[in-house]
Amino acid sequence: MNKLLVIGRDSSLEFYVNDIFLGNFADSYPDSPLTGIELQVSGEGSHVTFDNVALHSLSPLPVVMFPAAISGDPPFSSDYSPPAQERIGPFVTQPGDYFVSYTMTNAELSALQAEYYSAPIRKEILDAVEANFKDRVDVVIVILDLDAPPQGSLPWGVNWSVQSGSVHNPTTPRFARLGSMWLMTRDGLDMGPALHELLHGFLKSSFIIPTVLASHWGFSSVGGQLGGWDKDTLVYLGNDTYQATGPPISGGSYPTSFGIQANGGNSVPYSNLELWAMGLIPDSELVSVDVAENASYIEAGEGKFTATAIRTYSPSELIARTISDNRPSTATPRAFRGLVVFASTRTKIDMATITQLNREIEEFSMRSLISWGHNFWMATGMRASIHLATASELAR
Ligand SMILES: [Zn+2]
Repeated sequence: MNKLLVIGRDSSLEFYVNDIFLGNFADSYPDSPLTGIELQVSGEGSHVTFDNVALHSLSPLPVVMFPAAISGDPPFSSDYSPPAQERIGPFVTQPGDYFVSYTMTNAELSALQAEYYSAPIRKEILDAVEANFKDRVDVVIVILDLDAPPQGSLPWGVNWSVQSGSVHNPTTPRFARLGSMWLMTRDGLDMGPALHELLHGFLKSSFIIPTVLASHWGFSSVGGQLGGWDKDTLVYLGNDTYQATGPPISGGSYPTSFGIQANGGNSVPYSNLELWAMGLIPDSELVSVDVAENASYIEAGEGKFTATAIRTYSPSELIARTISDNRPSTATPRAFRGLVVFASTRTKIDMATITQLNREIEEFSMRSLISWGHNFWMATGMRASIHLATASELAR
């Protein structure tokens, strides 16, 4: 028997049950403000009626839905008609208005692939966004028109932070205050590292615990998008040797190891310290973090490592270690606006690609559950949202 968490209290509510509800959802979001009723269901395919709440499993159904009155989002339209405005500066609007495209030359793409960090195209696109769009863009998301991991220096994703300030500081300009996020393949919003890169935008310069890998959680119990093991899984094997795994992935099963940089793309939600660092939970909900000292992997694939000690940082120590200008508070914004720029060497984007991107953008940004992995709203435990659609609305 698995626990099922029902969201919403509408007596006419219908739920489409798929595996995301079975096992891991209630555990992942025990304190959701939208928590309604807990039911017991016997497995996928159940049909349950309880307090006028009917559950229907219509398998296979990819998305679990609940009413706009609960989720706050209107139903998305499948009308992919072109926006009224065809161009916004060097950008071209696209059917459905989910994103704009930017045409790169082959030479610009080659330069980007050869040496990402010095390629001028990065700044050109960002400057063009700033010049042509209103100062309401918290994050610029550039998706490259590539279907495979790129060659050369390109990572899977990167958040090129362009502001010296912080989203936690209300005097920081809004433009790109969560950074400029580059996803190097067309499915980066779906599969990751979209959640990972977005989190970098909240953390900026500060780091909270000692780590072997700058800007990531290293050998620690943070267990989230920026790496670390799941706090409950650490086992001491003797002789300064430990073993642990990352947090459960979508569906509830534990992986065999943990990463010091990341854990499984969009398959894991933001962890306790990450939610706190984003300003989404108060100091009172922050839990301690264990950090392995002088650690290194023995067998990375099995989560085995050596360390001279495990040091525990209490919530008050973690708070004291966070520099003041990047100090999260519950006054940090929770509703964000992003603009997706599709950077391609093609002058015309085919309808299949447009449909794929529109769907990815919709799923990543909607305040509803998706069938695989986590969108932003789910990853934050329904505490924050990001609006990406209606791109041309942002034109100056
Ligand atoms: Zn990273």
